[in-house]
Amino acid sequence: MGIEPNTAVDRTAAMAAIADQVRVCPLCDLAKTRTHAVPGAGSITSEILFIGEGPGQNEDRKGLPFIGRSGDYLEKLLALIGMTRNDVFITNVVKCRPPENRDPTNAEIAICRPYLDSQEALLDPLVIVTLGRFSMGRYFPGGKITQIHVAPKHDGRRSIYPLFHPAAVLRSASLEPTMEADFLRIPALVEEVRQRRAAFPNGFPATIASNEPKEAPAPPPSQMNLF
Ligand code: URA
Repeated sequence: MGIEPNTAVDRTAAMAAIADQVRVCPLCDLAKTRTHAVPGAGSITSEILFIGEGPGQNEDRKGLPFIGRSGDYLEKLLALIGMTRNDVFITNVVKCRPPENRDPTNAEIAICRPYLDSQEALLDPLVIVTLGRFSMGRYFPGGKITQIHVAPKHDGRRSIYPLFHPAAVLRSASLEPTMEADFLRIPALVEEVRQRRAAFPNGFPATIASNEPKEAPAPPPSQMNLF
């Protein structure tokens, strides 16, 4: 992208341009079997980016992310924190449906990666919530969701918060209380990152948080007088 988009209008146009590219993308075999590519949807000014795995049958039909049962559940989780899908941005690691809902391959994820990289750079979200192991793998290679879920990685300008995939929770109702508790931590995490950005304008140090809820960090002493 040659011009740095710095207004909501520029950003909307830039996101639409990415979506236009995705819709006609010929770069892997998923293009041959898709009905519609699913670029992603939501607020261009969102502070939170949700990344799932890939479109399912419903998403493929409509060209929109998370509109099947998983999507209904995601909306219910968003309601817990007073949000709707229009307040956040939702996308996937692969933008076209893997046939028969099989897992996306590493090659498909790699080929699709530049679209997600561009979306992430454009949104510059405070918090990226990964839903399931494929989006988690983008930020925590080799991580195991059952071990690191709810342990955000603070890095540079944002935090990455790995959560279970909604479909996994629908399959195992015993995960529901955990998923809800994880979701309820999102607003505090957003606030924490807001404070980190204010305290460390050039990027904050990379740390992996413990999975205990934490207070937002205090600004460094040299910047105390700015507050
Ligand atoms: N729908 C999506 O868009 N992504 C998923 O990962 C699951 C369902």
